[in-house]
Amino acid sequence: MSSNFEFSSITELGVALRERKVSAHELAQAALNLASKHANLNAFLHINDELTLAQAKHADALLEQGKGGPLTGIPIAHKDIFVTRQWKTTAASKMLENYTSPFDATVVHRLNEAGTVSIGKLNCDEFAMGSGNENSAFGATRNPWNLDVVPGGSSGGSAAAVAAGIVPATTGTDTGGSVRQPAALCGVSGIKPTYGTVSRFGMIAFGSSLDQAGPIARNANDLVDMLDIMSGFDERDSTSLESCDGVANQTGRVRKAYDESQTRFSQAGAKPLTGLRIGVPKEYFNEGLAPDIAAAVESALKEYENLGAIRVEISLPRTQLAIPAYYVIAPAEASSNLSRYDGVRYGHRAGNYSNLEEMTSRTRAEGFGDEVKRRIMVGTYVLCHGYYDAYYLQAQRVRRMITNDFQHAFAEQCDVIMGPVTPSVAKQIGENRDDPTADWLADVYTLGVSLAGLPAMSIPCGFGGQNLPVGLQLIGNYFNEGQLLAIADRYQRVTDWHQRKPDQK
Ligand code: GLN
Repeated sequence: MSSNFEFSSITELGVALRERKVSAHELAQAALNLASKHANLNAFLHINDELTLAQAKHADALLEQGKGGPLTGIPIAHKDIFVTRQWKTTAASKMLENYTSPFDATVVHRLNEAGTVSIGKLNCDEFAMGSGNENSAFGATRNPWNLDVVPGGSSGGSAAAVAAGIVPATTGTDTGGSVRQPAALCGVSGIKPTYGTVSRFGMIAFGSSLDQAGPIARNANDLVDMLDIMSGFDERDSTSLESCDGVANQTGRVRKAYDESQTRFSQAGAKPLTGLRIGVPKEYFNEGLAPDIAAAVESALKEYENLGAIRVEISLPRTQLAIPAYYVIAPAEASSNLSRYDGVRYGHRAGNYSNLEEMTSRTRAEGFGDEVKRRIMVGTYVLCHGYYDAYYLQAQRVRRMITNDFQHAFAEQCDVIMGPVTPSVAKQIGENRDDPTADWLADVYTLGVSLAGLPAMSIPCGFGGQNLPVGLQLIGNYFNEGQLLAIADRYQRVTDWHQRKPDQK
């Protein structure tokens, strides 16, 4: 652990906190200092030292009484898509520029209760729509590995803050890849859990049947601590699950499954993953995949074979169809979710108007950015009478087929699926400015998982062109987050990609 706590993991900080070698106050102050040292990343949108230090004081009081849990006193930060009572919440949109929520999102509430100390709110793509964090109304976030490239998106600030060593963990959301893709491009670890395991209450809605919160951290072991607190049944979210395959959906579920997998792996001896069947979809290694990504993913698969795993070639024949299906369904849901920003209920209202209709249309014209408007237009189009059957209904059918492909693989062929997260390393900022759909195509490896509602993660597995990080995607069957994290941890025990730091590549 470095003296200024930069790049420390949750586990390291937790031990130091509970042994009172460091206070939550000192850690919070150090993280605030790092956030301002790295202000050029534009990772944070709202910082308020006073609020942060008040949370640290509370955590120190608990730790003093020996009441600290694994996350008590740990500095974290939240994607600005989770509503917070104290910090502003903007979803990186002008529409909500001065909005403060009357309540905390369930994810924020649970992490507060666990004693975490929030350093602030993190930049993202506007309403989580994007893949490079360039769609933020408050400017792009930069990648700590190279300031000229994107950190990925939409949870770009969340990945950049961890990659720069400011905080050990952050929250993000993933609708079509927004936790996994920025984690991959920033060389950190992130997990999107099974749909329905983490409450969406207070998470500003984009595509409700797809949106799921997930943590980003320095390693798989730290993700367990975060996800374990974040997940659990919440009656305020109508799609929240009460049980996961017969196991109650509550704090402790992920940790227990993780520990059980670890015990099993340890008993296997020198080759801990003996017999684990890794499905490698042939469609993930097509001509669209850059050679540097393919090479890094290949060597990760070899490492898994050294650990005893067996590689099985599988087929996910509708991989490419995930793009059109997602880019019909997600905008359709977005157009409906975003109808609430009408100038009456939340945030921005146009200054000049002569009637109600003009007020609403001017408010929306001024408040939303280009990508959000594009999605609203696509969404209303595919939902309108006459096109609904041809587009929306058809996309839902394809979604079912994609889900069936995954189900077939898990039922017959493999225990986990592995492949790339992105077709290439991070792009230059501004590279796709004139071609908004280029980013959509780059989501090819993450969208299917979201449509199927499966858990999946990204862990660092090497470096590609320009020495930029490459991520390995691990996809599990429903509710297998614990096992997935343990499989990721076994890789991180024998490799050090996750420990690399941007300043000393
Ligand atoms: N890149 C995808 C999109 O723009 C995914 C975004 C997300 O997961 N929030 O829709």
